[in-house]
Parts: sequence; structure tokens; C-alpha cells
Amino acid sequence: MRCEVAVIGGGFGGTLVAMCLAAQGRDVIVLERERHPRFAIGESSTPLANLVLEDIIRTYSLEALLPLCRYGTWKHSYPKVRCGPKRGFSFFAHEPGRPFEAFSDHRTELLVAANPSQDLADTQWLRSDVDALFSETAKAQGVRVLEGVSVLDAERGRRWKLALLQEAEDASSTPASGRSQSFSADFVIDASGGASPLHTAVGLTDAGESLATRSRAIFSHFEGVETWHTVCSAAGGNLDDHPFPADDAALHHMTREGWIWMLRFDHGVTSVGAVLTDDGKSGSIEEEWKALFERYPSVAAQMSAALPTRPLVRTSRLQRRLRPAAGPDWALLPGAAYFIDPLLSPGNAHTMHGVERLSRIFESWPDRGAMAVGLDEYDSRLQAEVDFMDPLIHGCYLAIDSLPLLAAYTMYYFAGAIHSEERRRDGTAEGADGFLHSHDEAFRGRVMEAYHDLADITEGPVDAGVVEAFASRVAADIEPWNTTGLCDPERQNMYPYK
Ligand SMILES: Cc1cc2nc3c(=O)[nH]c(=O)nc-3n(C[C@H](O)[C@H](O)[C@H](O)COP(=O)(O)OP(=O)(O)OC[C@H]3O[C@@H](n4cnc5c(N)ncnc54)[C@H](O)[C@@H]3O)c2cc1C
Repeated sequence: MRCEVAVIGGGFGGTLVAMCLAAQGRDVIVLERERHPRFAIGESSTPLANLVLEDIIRTYSLEALLPLCRYGTWKHSYPKVRCGPKRGFSFFAHEPGRPFEAFSDHRTELLVAANPSQDLADTQWLRSDVDALFSETAKAQGVRVLEGVSVLDAERGRRWKLALLQEAEDASSTPASGRSQSFSADFVIDASGGASPLHTAVGLTDAGESLATRSRAIFSHFEGVETWHTVCSAAGGNLDDHPFPADDAALHHMTREGWIWMLRFDHGVTSVGAVLTDDGKSGSIEEEWKALFERYPSVAAQMSAALPTRPLVRTSRLQRRLRPAAGPDWALLPGAAYFIDPLLSPGNAHTMHGVERLSRIFESWPDRGAMAVGLDEYDSRLQAEVDFMDPLIHGCYLAIDSLPLLAAYTMYYFAGAIHSEERRRDGTAEGADGFLHSHDEAFRGRVMEAYHDLADITEGPVDAGVVEAFASRVAADIEPWNTTGLCDPERQNMYPYK
């Protein structure tokens, strides 16, 4: 078997890039080791992810996917593809052993709206359904998608030779009893989401240890999770001030150990996960999970009647990084090249950027010289973005014990994200735009300086004066890019959509 481009991994990233290349006339095959629908994590979309997806859809005439860019059109066109509305980001700070405490000035809360209404909302993606839809759409676009096929190894010669293991049709057989075969391709895109089969063939370096962020996760899906609205109201929270329903969001419960996400789908299932900053615990996952929730009574109240719909998963350290991310005849999508952390949901948006950039590079096909230049640039930009993302996220962890300090630091993320969204919407975004506006040296420089200062500040006691000074500095720093009133103390951490 042979093709021009082989894509390893049939998540939404792999099938989307395959569709873009097929639209350009490339003979593309996607090799996916599992069979759709299959569980995947990475469920919370953002405005930027949707805007880039929309641009990709329009450029490569993939209109079948257009309804997925907004909650309202999604529900109308694909009522069976399960999702939930995401109106923004909500954060609530908890103290161990104490119920959640709400204050009239919202000092333990932060809500940042991402869209103006439920109809125009972003979405929580039930990845099993969404990735299956992407896969079906890819097939309809002429992409060959082979499921139940693992890429075991890759050999790089004049053409690529991929060693495959085709899962046996008989589901009771072990994978090892499947059929081995090989496949040749001119170009390989690794969309495997990590553990790259290209590792040895192209000499990838593991650079995960150089990342400052350190976290791991435990997660599952649950039925019967009580709404935060109910629990927060009972705790005296003034929900009338919330710019959107806090549950229709990427809901972050900030804890001493890290944070807990809750993402609600419309069919009564909620994705719940804990991101923890320690290096790991012995004992069963269930015990660790139970002990964590017992420390936070209000979060425990949300989970008191919750039942998992699938077993809990406990990861090792989440951070990973492979370098480089591209060569003359291969490329890694962002999700294969690195992962930092789910905080602020940057993963899927960055994947969309990677798909868009690679697809543009393929417009030079068959001019491999021009492509090589583009791929070199793809790698440099991705590395620069990872170097930006790691401090951006790690800074949030440095500030995690003080919600006001965390709220101030997250404004760099929101300023970069919102400014990038505006550039997409008004048509001023350029090919050279970096993820979250990180290409802008002035913006990037301010974030990096603030990160280093934050590291110094959090070495000592963080009192109200320290927080106030840091918040004023953030406000001044982001001023050139802040068109929506971020950092306004009068908003008291409640930011409606503007
Ligand atoms: C705990 C956690 C929470 C996250 N939360 C969010 C979030 O809320 N929002 C967000 O934007 N991002 C989030 N992310 C990131 C998100 O998961 C990724 O951005 C996204 O999954 C990337 O999509 P992808 O299609 O590139 O890769 P994946 O979704 O990882 O898909 C890779 C596919 O490749 C297949 N595969 C792997 N190896 C092989 C092989 N050798 N041969 C054949 N097939 C193979 C796999 O079976 C899989 O289907 C999270 C990540 C983690 C770890």
C-alpha cells in the first residue's frame, strides 16, 4: 500500500489535516489504532479554536463541519453529536476543610465570558462523538481512514515505510494476533497525540524535563453531578452578578493541590478531572480521588450523588515535549509535539493552528524545497510558542494559592486570546501570527518579565498590597491589547462579553 501523505492518528486533529490536504488533491491516508467512537480527553473548546476551525473550513470547503463552530448551529445541525454549551471560564477558590466562601466583592471568584449568548456559545466536545463525526466527514471527503491500525515503527528512506499492525477483526483476539503489514508514503504527519512512532527515525529529543510546569491528572465522566449554581447559591454566592451561568463554562475549582475541572454535556454527563501538582501518590486511584474531594466540602457536595460512567484514569506527569517538530518530509501536530496542561484549555486551539499552518505549507506541493522552508518555520514558531506557553501556565500555578493574584496573571492569557480572536474576526490576522499573540515581541516580553517577577513575589508572603501592585502592573502591561476592559477593578472579577 502507498500514498502521498500518511497521517498517524485519527483524532480530530489528524482527520482535519487529512481533509485539508485531500481538498488540495493529495492522496491521504489516516491510520488510527482504535475504532470510532472511542473515548478521548481534551473536551473544552475556546473561541480561538472555533475561529481557526471556521477559517480552515472556509479555505478548504469543509462546510459540513461549519455548524460545529457555535453551540446553536451545532445543536440544530447535529443534535445527536453530544456536546455542552461553554459560555466562558469560571474559577472558584476553595480552602481545605471549609465550605466555599463567597464575598460581595467576588474575591474568591473569577468569571470571564467568551461569547455573548448561549446560541453563539463555544462548546464542550464529547470527543467520542466529535472525533467519529470528523472521521466520517473525512471519509466523505475522499480521505482513506483505516481504523484498528497501529503504526508500530517508521523507517525513513527515499520514501517512508511504516510498519503497521492491523487489529484482528475478531474482537476477542489480542492485538498481537493482528496482521502485520507495511505502508509507504512520501510525507508523514504525526497526529498521534504523543509517543511519536517517528521518534527514532527522525531523531527526536525528549525535552519535557525542561518545562517548568509540573502536573498530573485524574479524571473520568460522571452522571448526577450537582450544578455549581445550586451549591454556590447555598453558600451565599451572588449569582446575579455572574455574567453567564458558571456551570456552562470550563468550571475551575481551585484547590491547594491544583484544580478540578467540570465540563457539562447536555446528556447529563459531566467531565470531572483533578489536576495535581505533586509528583504522585501510592494507593488506589479511587482512594486518592475520594480523599481529595473530602477536603473540599462544596465540591464534594456537587459530587455526592455522582456516579462514574467509566473508570477513573490517573496519568503520570502530563508535560512532554519532542524536538524538533518538523523536517523536510514529516511534521508533528502540536498535540504530538508537546503538552503542558489543561489549564485555560489551550490544547485544541493550538492543534487548529497547527492544522492550518501545515495545510498552508502543503499548498507548495510538489515543490519540496519551498515546503522544507515552510516546515522549518513551522518548527521554529511552534518551539517559540511552547516557550511562551510554559511560563504562561506555570505562572498560574505559582499564583494558585491566591485567587486575586491568579486572576491578575490570567489576564495575560485573556488579553492574548481575545486580541487574537479580534484579529481573526476583523481579518487583520496574518500568517505569521503566533498562538495567543505570542509573536508580538512587546507582548511576549511583558508576559515573560511578569512571570519572572511573579516567581520572585510568590517566594514571600502574598498580602493584599503585593496583589494590588501586581494587578496594576498587569493592567498597564496589557493596555495596548486590552480592548474589552480586562483588569478593571470595578468589575470585581466579573467580565461580561464585550
Ligand atoms: C488531561 C487532559 C485534559 C485536556 N483538556 C483539554 C481541554 O479542556 N481543552 C483543550 O483544548 N485541550 C485539552 N487537552 C489537550 C487535547 O487533548 C489535545 O489538544 C487534543 O486531543 C489533540 O487532538 P489530536 O487529534 O491532535 O490528538 P489526540 O486527540 O490525542 O488523538 C490522537 C489519536 O492518535 C491515535 N494514535 C496514537 N498513537 C497511534 C499509533 N501509533 N498508530 C495509530 N494511531 C495512533 C490515538 O488512538 C488517538 O485517536 C487536554 C489534554 C489532557 C491530557
